[in-house]
Amino acid sequence: ALTAGIVGLPNVGKSTLFNAITQAGALSANYPFATIDPNVGIVEVPDERLDKLTELVNPKKTVPTAFEFTDIAGIVKGASKGEGLGNQFLSHIRQVDAITHVVRAFEDENITHVSGKVDPISDIETINLELILADLETVTKRFDRVSKLVKQKDKAALAEYDVLEKLKAGFEEEMPARAVEFTDEQQKIVKGLHLLTAKPILYVANVSEDEIGVDVDNPYVEKIREYADAEGAEVIVVCAKIESEIAELEGEEKQEFLEELGIEESGLDQLIKATYNLLGLATYFTAGEQEVRAWTFTIGMKAPQAAGIIHTDFERGFIRAETVSYEDLVTEGSMGAAREKGKVRLEGKEYLVKDGDVIHFRFNV
Ligand code: GDP
Repeated sequence: ALTAGIVGLPNVGKSTLFNAITQAGALSANYPFATIDPNVGIVEVPDERLDKLTELVNPKKTVPTAFEFTDIAGIVKGASKGEGLGNQFLSHIRQVDAITHVVRAFEDENITHVSGKVDPISDIETINLELILADLETVTKRFDRVSKLVKQKDKAALAEYDVLEKLKAGFEEEMPARAVEFTDEQQKIVKGLHLLTAKPILYVANVSEDEIGVDVDNPYVEKIREYADAEGAEVIVVCAKIESEIAELEGEEKQEFLEELGIEESGLDQLIKATYNLLGLATYFTAGEQEVRAWTFTIGMKAPQAAGIIHTDFERGFIRAETVSYEDLVTEGSMGAAREKGKVRLEGKEYLVKDGDVIHFRFNV
């Protein structure tokens, strides 16, 4: 399964945020084993469509979909001494599919900042520079290999050589790989290099309690947004401390607390949704009388592969995917009505599943 890794300097609020994530997961009856690996937190994906489908179908059970966050800081604690980032830290980042970078944007004189003052850009750059240096090493090693083939006029090697040169030039200006421009062809080569700075990233600005429900960004958040914009990354503003309180509540209680705070959606829920998108994940639904359920698939998956997420038999024996879009189903009010209006399509093996599809798979056993 795809996972996002939480990183950040010490004392920025990572553990507090990660605890909120684990707490939210622990509340859910659907994931009783969420805490087997203490560094992995399972979160449910908030989705209003699932509530609506439940209203329509009135099933015995409703099951949301979920995905994982990995607490890289937790893994690194003890492994790296003092301020060093260490190889272990890098190898853990290598294993995640997206990066959630927590940055301190709150002042609190009781909580020491590692470099003595709150300076989000310098914090971001400290970590990003480590990642860039690791990538520079990867690129340098590739250069050694590719150079020989370039002398033999090997076409693939020549193409890669160009990519490596561009990357190296970017790294020397402290640019992450994701900010360097490439053609689609070149992008494929970049992908093959498995660079740390090519992974999709989002920044989490951790602000203080009294800034929740305030619409104006504090100057730290402004700076973080500027930095993130330059590399096309998103910024989510949270107060980790409050998130850990919200995460202890469910349903109406949670709703009331959010209203008190003057916000519509918790920062954690925003973070979950944004990370889900960042990972290239999307949701399809199954809606039967027994169970209405959301399933996570990767954008670009064809129908049989998406069916395989439910059960490998569904993929192996795939015949057709009876599909209606969420919007059409809601407009028509029932599966029967949608069928009568011709809104239910019979899709085959080549169908690219879309976010919001409500699907009934037909398969041979
Ligand atoms: P980590 O080292 O990045 O995991 O940081 P922690 O989550 O352990 O947080 C470091 C300290 O900052 C702890 O004392 C937290 O209680 C505090 N902290 C975390 N988030 C906030 C916040 O939003 N506001 C304030 N005032 N303190 C926070």
